[in-house]
Amino acid sequence: MLPAEVLAQAQEAIMAYQNTGMSVLELPHRSMEVAAMISECNALTMELCELDDNYEVIWMQGGGRMQFCMIPMNFLADNDTAGFIDSGFWAEEAFSYATYYGQVNLLATSKAINYCRLPEWPKEVSDQLSYLHFTTNNTIFGTQWPEIPECDVPLIADMSSDIFSRRRNYNRCAVFYAVAQKNVGIPGATMVAIRKDMLDRIVRPLPPMLNYKEHVKEKSVLNTANVFSIYLSLLMLRWIKAKGIDAIEKENADKAKLLYKAIDNSEFFKPHVKYKADRSLMNVCFTANTPEIEKNFLKLCDENNITGIKGHRSVGGFRASLYNAVSLADVKELFRVMDAL
Ligand SMILES: *Cc1c(COP(=O)(O)O)cnc(C)c1O
Repeated sequence: MLPAEVLAQAQEAIMAYQNTGMSVLELPHRSMEVAAMISECNALTMELCELDDNYEVIWMQGGGRMQFCMIPMNFLADNDTAGFIDSGFWAEEAFSYATYYGQVNLLATSKAINYCRLPEWPKEVSDQLSYLHFTTNNTIFGTQWPEIPECDVPLIADMSSDIFSRRRNYNRCAVFYAVAQKNVGIPGATMVAIRKDMLDRIVRPLPPMLNYKEHVKEKSVLNTANVFSIYLSLLMLRWIKAKGIDAIEKENADKAKLLYKAIDNSEFFKPHVKYKADRSLMNVCFTANTPEIEKNFLKLCDENNITGIKGHRSVGGFRASLYNAVSLADVKELFRVMDAL
């Protein structure tokens, strides 16, 4: 979802961007306006994540999977090893993409129990690893790491489905990235934050387009940037800042609490993630006790304009995604429909 006010601002910018006499869709990517847009996005990202001055922020294309490629290309040499925590589909994708470039070590996985809990974080991590990759929120299975752990090797995090949803110690990551389309805009842009020392650790020669250092040097316009997607991220970042990250965090917690309580108390549904400490505040996954209930509830949702509630095929049932732009009132409406079943 996107907030109505963000959509209204986007609509206005499509007709005319500031005093340029152009639509935002017509702006040249090397214009002053786009440079200002990107630099405001970077400043807001730094501020909302409370990052120290050691980070660079860039906006890229190619989505999450492009990062799954670029991280090992840049940071994993052929004979070196990277560590991975497998907490679900996206974590597994990142792991399998890395095998094309170097050695991989699966340090923990909860695949055998269909990811209904987080795996145990490894007690010791070898300092021989080039980096450790994990996924902060598991979009499909509805688990989430409540904290970013401390780590002796560079920690790299996919935060695609929970970036800007709460306060966190982002400075513990050497690199973190998030596609825009979940919590911070629309498809087309991916935010990457990189600690500066990582830019001197690139392990192989790469064409500029695949090299983080070149993207930093070119201030996110090495190639024709996806200006409109970046602009939507800017509008979302401003919206998040105006609300305040603490208020967002509280509302996200209230939304999830309401829904989990409804599921835990229901005679019709059960949660995919029974272990409460592992539950995601962003994606609430639950299944119906019978196929009959599943069918009836989907129909009832449809009649009440609740869309996108069907769960991923690997879990089945339902998934309510409670990203930043989903309000407590929206969740209360879902609660009302569940109650009416
Ligand atoms: C949605 C999502 C992605 C998206 O990847 P794309 O390649 O852009 O489709 C990546 N990681 C996580 C955790 C996600 O939730």
